[in-house]
Amino acid sequence: MSETSTSAADGPNETPPFRDRLAFDLDVDICVVGAGLAGLTVAREAARLGASVAVLEGRQVGWNASGHHLGTVMPGFGLPVADLIERVGLQDARELWALSKEGADYVRATATEELIPGISPSDGALEVSNVDIGEALISRLQALTEDFATDVEGWQVDRVRSVLRTGRYFHGIYYPKALQIDGRKYVHGLAALATRAGARIFEETPVVSIDFSGIRKRIVTPSARLRATHIVLAGNVHLGAPLKRLSDTLLPVWRYAALTEPLGERLAEAIGFPGSVADSDGIDHFRIVDGDRLLWASPETTWDARPKRFGAAVQRRIATLFPQLGKVPISDTFGGAVGVTVHGMPQIGQLRRGLWVASGFGRQGLNTSALAGQLIARSILWGDDRWRLFSPFELVWAGGTTGRVAGHFIGLWARGASAAAGVLARYREGARARERLREARLAEANLKAGTRGPAPRHPPQPAARPMPPPAPRQSEEDGKAYPHASQESERISDGRM
Ligand SMILES: Cc1cc2nc3c(=O)[nH]c(=O)nc-3n(C[C@H](O)[C@H](O)[C@H](O)COP(=O)(O)OP(=O)(O)OC[C@H]3O[C@@H](n4cnc5c(N)ncnc54)[C@H](O)[C@@H]3O)c2cc1C
Repeated sequence: MSETSTSAADGPNETPPFRDRLAFDLDVDICVVGAGLAGLTVAREAARLGASVAVLEGRQVGWNASGHHLGTVMPGFGLPVADLIERVGLQDARELWALSKEGADYVRATATEELIPGISPSDGALEVSNVDIGEALISRLQALTEDFATDVEGWQVDRVRSVLRTGRYFHGIYYPKALQIDGRKYVHGLAALATRAGARIFEETPVVSIDFSGIRKRIVTPSARLRATHIVLAGNVHLGAPLKRLSDTLLPVWRYAALTEPLGERLAEAIGFPGSVADSDGIDHFRIVDGDRLLWASPETTWDARPKRFGAAVQRRIATLFPQLGKVPISDTFGGAVGVTVHGMPQIGQLRRGLWVASGFGRQGLNTSALAGQLIARSILWGDDRWRLFSPFELVWAGGTTGRVAGHFIGLWARGASAAAGVLARYREGARARERLREARLAEANLKAGTRGPAPRHPPQPAARPMPPPAPRQSEEDGKAYPHASQESERISDGRM
């Protein structure tokens, strides 16, 4: 079991309500396995549409990742948009993307002070690149705005660095309609809303086996049995015994985060951006909370470890990105396991008549679990069959223990490659600046000597340039001419966490 701890946003008197375990047999329309974001959204939506719903949670509501995340809500999936188009074609990619936006809208509509007091929503997220990829950024902006009707702004290096005072980041994509919320309040608020809609939630009730045959399916827990016409498996990587083959299609990745002590005014001097910041390699993800504290997620493992062990790693990461902050004191650490699929898309749909799956949301689970919850509830009760858009992304075995070991090394490699690319980009940037300085000095010396020296090869650059309008899409020929740009454009995630 993951050792998790709560974020500072939880007040001392805000212990979540205790819920009974299921101690009697029950008959319902829908049984949901797992009270994380996915299970609770299905339960709430199905109950709102009139179904009788029971949620069986093996531990407590939000016990895993759903109660221990950073609360950034963005459109998109773990799979980069270019890969999504390649996989399913532009038309289906557009529809899938629209669903991902509906998921984000669902969270925005639910995470209001009226429905979930203290949720504190705030706007805007920035995705930054740790390499100099202006060309790739422009083509991605074009795809997001024109093909996917998403509100985004391209930020030049100067603009990024005016709010994030580090030489590590280059260009950025600003999502004005992204938002962040208090993650723990959201999952408990969702549970309360599901209950209010009529769903019954039982804690400490692990599902140990399921008999899928027949119209009415039988669900077995240690203390009671349940019969249901539909079962929704929303247990993420911990599902285990009820359908081990399904768990085996997810690579479990434990992601860890830390909250600093209050850092005072020096934090605002280093970070002047009020929303969430995530790098395009999916390594660092952070935001300011409580005015002057940093909430920062970065380290990952493919095995379960105590989050406390990673406080120092987060401290080092912050010092690397923002050396002016020095070694920041950490007040809290937490983490959870996310389920990563081989193809990077969530598992949403019907496995066999009456048996549904909602899992594999990876590092971007807020919008995607919301879309899954809505879609499955509407499919069961209204016959909405848009979940079929996810059919091309089959359940692929994630490789078991070998997959975890491979996943670990791939993760290390990706982080190493990202660091090396960052070093190279910063070296090139430094070399360009040195060359401009040298030429300016040469021109000045020539002027003083009264001679007409050669004109500088590069005119001095203005401090800040406006973002040029999106250039026409790169042709295949261009892609070959800019091999690094095209590689980078593939690596960039779309709002990846
Ligand atoms: C540090 C961190 C930061 C993150 N930040 C963000 C972010 O900013 N934005 C974002 O979009 N996403 C973020 N994520 C990802 C997001 O939290 C997850 O994708 C999401 O919470 C997954 O929800 P879930 O309901 O699928 O799974 P879970 O949260 O794992 O819930 C599944 C539940 O099912 C229960 N269960 C499992 N098996 C059984 C069984 N047999 N019987 C009964 N119950 C069972 C488990 O106990 C668990 O409570 C972050 C994750 C982490 C760890």
